[in-house]
Parts: sequence; structure tokens; C-alpha cells
Amino acid sequence: MKLAVVREQAPGETRVAATPETVKKFIALGATVAVEPGAGNHASIADADYVAVGATVAADAVAGANIVLGVQGPDPAGLAAAAPGAWIVAGLDPFGQRGRVDAYATAGLEALAMEFVPRITRAQSMDILSSQSNLAGYKAVIEAANLYGRAFPMMMTAAGTISAAKAFVMGVGVAGLQAIATARRLGAQVSATDVRSATREQIISLGAKPIFVETVAGIEGEGAGGYATEMSEEYQKAQAELVSSHIAKQDIVITTALIPGRAAPRLISDAQIASMKPGSVIFDLAVAQGGNVEGSVPDQVVERHGVKILGYSNTPAKLPADASALFARNLYNFLAAFWDKEQGKPVLDEEIGNAIRLTQGGQVVNPRLLG
Ligand code: NAD
Repeated sequence: MKLAVVREQAPGETRVAATPETVKKFIALGATVAVEPGAGNHASIADADYVAVGATVAADAVAGANIVLGVQGPDPAGLAAAAPGAWIVAGLDPFGQRGRVDAYATAGLEALAMEFVPRITRAQSMDILSSQSNLAGYKAVIEAANLYGRAFPMMMTAAGTISAAKAFVMGVGVAGLQAIATARRLGAQVSATDVRSATREQIISLGAKPIFVETVAGIEGEGAGGYATEMSEEYQKAQAELVSSHIAKQDIVITTALIPGRAAPRLISDAQIASMKPGSVIFDLAVAQGGNVEGSVPDQVVERHGVKILGYSNTPAKLPADASALFARNLYNFLAAFWDKEQGKPVLDEEIGNAIRLTQGGQVVNPRLLG
């Protein structure tokens, strides 16, 4: 069983899908591992570090590989030398990169999309969305603090008192929870909102204030698989009114709201931005999925009505070493959980295998793509 670790080709991608730690563990399972030269450079991992744990480093790492590991989906054109029916295990962006998925099918490859791992207890350690969102939520607050021309904590000094920043987190999934915790640690006064009622308790337990639409019902409990859906027009209107009255008093806003397979919901309009104090900062974590904030542009600081708006197309890539370490463990935990010692290779079950398998036998097979 040969595993190949590719050097990421996407612009701005700094992560790598395996670290010396996980390579060592794959070798302990009985696999051989080949790494493309420079694959770990941005994540502070030298080729020699992979060699030291038993991998080979070679430009033709993919040749004869049974499993190709990536952070993002590797270019199908570069996979011609992989073993027939090789698995591609990566974050494949199945809805956004449909053409690439079709090309994997045509090439007879078996593409496994790690973002489709179901949110069930035994798969938590394989969940790339959680591991990367957690770091993104942290980084969003750090970047917002960096752009903000004031301090976060209350400070009492001989020259007078500085009041604490007011931070508002919109969308309290994995990223939002970490954003709340990070803003609190920096000393901000934090409030947060979500459409899922189950987040209210979580917000309170982190010491933040829940701000919820009370007049129209949101999503009770956790929703399908823990995810939100598109809300009714009535809810959206009530939410807009609530946000309008709250946002004008905020210094920092972090938006994280996503709906799987759809454009991000618009949560903040230009008129609402205009109501904020000049010098306030908004970080739009959803900017790559269309944005929660009107006028946000990926990887640019946009100034509107004196408010700075920022969001990255790839936030986890701003923390390459930690993001790679966690991503690599997710891939290892996934393959190791299904490793069949007798066959010397992973054998997937139906629940997880069918959820993540996009292509097999020359066809696109995933129900979420077949619609
Ligand atoms: P996500 O990235 O899909 O969305 C981020 C947040 O935005 C969610 O909390 C969502 O409810 C919220 N949102 C969507 N539309 C909104 C709107 N119009 N206004 C305000 N908020 C809006 O979410 P996520 O971080 O992937 O987490 C989703 C759920 O999955 C959470 O309940 C999380 O705890 C759960 N989860 C479970 C597992 C597991 O293995 N059991 C693992 C990770 C996450």
C-alpha cells in the first residue's frame, strides 16, 4: 500500500496533508509513504523531516500510489501515474469543483471528499471542517484585533480608562464558538447569535450574551446533521431588525454563518454597516462562500463608512503549521480507523464510505452530487 503526499498547487494554500507524525504512523501500519519535494515547506516541515521518519521524497511520489493525500483536490492531470482506481483523499470542494470531480471519475479514480464525513460521534476525529474552522475562528478575531485601532480589554491607567471592545459573533458553529472564546480571552465584551436555538446555552457557557430572534421560531435543537438551512423570509426580516439595533453598538463583528451547499446567508447590509461607529472592524469568515457582509471582498481590507471589512479566501492557511498538524491527523484517524490488518489496506464501511465517496468505477456516485 503506497501513500503519496502531494505538494499543494492552489494559490495561497500553505498547508500539507501529512506531517512527520502521521507519516510515521502510516508506516507503522505497514504502508510506504512518498512525499513530493517541498510539500511541507510553508508549514515549516523540511523534506528531511519526512525522510527522517521513513518516507521517500521524490518528484514522482504519485507514481504507483494507491492513496493520494491532499489538503485540496490535486489536479487530475497530475495523477495519471497513480495506481488504477487509486483513492484521492482530500478536501475536494465537491460543489465548487464539480468539473474536477468529473475528471477524477473519467480517470477511474476513487475520490473521497473529507468535508462530507458525517457529523457522528465516531467520526469527530476525522472531521476536517471542525479542525480547520476552529483555527479559522481564532484567526478571525486576531486579525480583527490587529486592524482595530483600539485595545480589546478594559484598561485602567494613570492617564485614564480605556473601555472594553464590544464584539458580536454571528453564527455559532465551530468557528463561532472559538471566536467567542478568543475574543473573551482578549478581554472583549462578547455577544453572539445563531438561528439554531441549541447554541444559546453554548454562548452563555462561554460567558457571552445570546442575542436571538424571539418573535419567529428559529431551528429547534441541532437541525439536520447539526447544520442550518435557509430561513424563511419572515425570520430573515426579524433577524435584520434585531441585528440593526444591536450592530450599531458593536466595535468588532465576526460573521461565520454558512449553509452547506449554498451561498452564505447575507447577514449585514451596507445600511447596517453605515450605522456602526467609524473605526469598527468586521471579519467575514464566509467571504469565500459569497460573504455574510455586503461589500466584503476576499483577501482585501475594504473600508465602508469608516468601517474596515476583511475576510480571507482561506483562513486556515494563515496558520499553516497548526492547520496542517490537525488536518493530517484527521486524514490519519480516518484511514487508520478503517485499516484492515489482513488486507494491509483500509476498507470503508457504508455509513462513512458512501457519504464521502464521490466517484467510483468511472462514475460520479455520490447522491449529494447526483441531486
Ligand atoms: P457551519 O459552518 O455550517 O455554519 C456556521 C454557523 O452558522 C452554524 O452554527 C449555523 O447554524 C449558523 N448560521 C447559518 N445561517 C445563519 C443565519 N442566517 N444567521 C445566523 N447564523 C446562521 O456550522 P459548523 O461549524 O459546521 O457546525 C454546525 C453544527 O455541527 C454545530 O451544531 C456543531 O456543533 C455540529 N458539529 C458536530 C460534530 C460531530 O461530529 N458531532 C462535529 C462538528 C460540528
